[in-house]
Amino acid sequence: MTTESGVDRVRLGALAARERAAFAERNPKSAAAYAGAGHLFGRVPMTWMNKAAAGFPLYAAGARGARITDLDGHEYVDFCLGDTGAMAGHSPGPVAEAVRRQLENGLTTMLPTEDAALVGAELSRRFGLPQWSFALTATDANRWAIRLLRAVSGRPRILFNSYCYHGSVDESLIVVGPGGEGMSREGNVGAPADVTQTSRVAEFNDLEGLERELRNRDVAAVLMEPALTNIGIVLPRPGYLDGVRALTRKYGTYLINDETHTFSAGPGGATRAWGLDPDVVTIGKAIAGGIPIGAYGLSEDLAATLLGRDDLDLVDMGGVGGTLAGNPVSMAAARATLEQVLTDAAFGVMISTATAFAEGLRKLLETYALPWSVSQLGARVEYRFANPAPVDGTASAASADPELEDFLHTYLANRGILLTPFHNMALMSPATTLDDVQRHHEVFAAALEELTTA
Ligand code: PMP
Repeated sequence: MTTESGVDRVRLGALAARERAAFAERNPKSAAAYAGAGHLFGRVPMTWMNKAAAGFPLYAAGARGARITDLDGHEYVDFCLGDTGAMAGHSPGPVAEAVRRQLENGLTTMLPTEDAALVGAELSRRFGLPQWSFALTATDANRWAIRLLRAVSGRPRILFNSYCYHGSVDESLIVVGPGGEGMSREGNVGAPADVTQTSRVAEFNDLEGLERELRNRDVAAVLMEPALTNIGIVLPRPGYLDGVRALTRKYGTYLINDETHTFSAGPGGATRAWGLDPDVVTIGKAIAGGIPIGAYGLSEDLAATLLGRDDLDLVDMGGVGGTLAGNPVSMAAARATLEQVLTDAAFGVMISTATAFAEGLRKLLETYALPWSVSQLGARVEYRFANPAPVDGTASAASADPELEDFLHTYLANRGILLTPFHNMALMSPATTLDDVQRHHEVFAAALEELTTA
């Protein structure tokens, strides 16, 4: 039997079982470490680490550049790159050096360091928003941006795209239901309130749906990625993002671009690459080379309005905080990453490596006549088991094929290649080479050969 993904399920089942067994045999030390971690909730430091294609996670022994070594001594070409946290490559030299210096010179003090102002200035140059503040995660940057925009607008709700991901932000766990209405996303853990009371939802690429929701004039902000990246890559149709900006202005709603992943589009993310004009940009992960950081940038007007509001406690316990936010280590790491590693020039190289990756993938899918599609967002490439590529989150979610995805991830891992566990995403760092791309494509071709040949 062949399904929409274009593969024979019986053959896939047999191959997947073979690869899982090979994975277990190849990784006895990782298996033992996992079995012995009985005092970790779910046997892992964070429950999402159980999203492992072959039943247990590989344990990292070390990582450098575009390579990871595991506990059993295997080396991998890493296209996951910490799901973007290591987009600069693992332990890039200038970042390691800056952090080493700061480690000997005060880890957290509650005083600003000079690095912070330089990072703010560099983020302003790149993203075009002039006022910056810091958090430790992109999730917190989003949470604080939401609080600020509810405060200035006096409106209660935030609008999201269906099947978005912006971190564990309560308001964002909303999807478009079967009748077009908003509903809680499946699996939503411990929501503090019915998400339809705090949020509205529209499909990505759907301006009519967006206007229908904004017309209620109760939406403080639209919080969106300029391209969806957490349900495959869903690229904006021509005119869509301009339409979002026009509608948000028409209905007095602020616009937040979450650039945490779309940063892959270029040195100033999609905001700069596509000439976008949001009121707020949020970001995290990659900008400090893997050291925890989050950041949000505000327009001049918005920053002045907020600072002019005597009734908002922005200093003490008003709800925008974080003792370790803006700490000297994060700031030193961000400065080194932005000034020396993820430079404008580095993006040129990363994006051309990604283009080679995408072109090679497309050729292979054609060769093996598979009805899948490839999307590229600067240094990031992803394939989905649908062709043409889905244009919204719900359609992209519907094209998922977990069994096929797990098989491909396990097949690749057994041959020294890592993809992002949550999807078929490959990210290029400045250290990723065309040889690495070639290596991936050889292994991927072998997997497709076995999948499609009777
Ligand atoms: N925004 C986007 C677009 C993300 O993809 C993620 C995480 N994948 C986050 C925010 C949250 O990042 P963090 O988990 O580092 O807080």
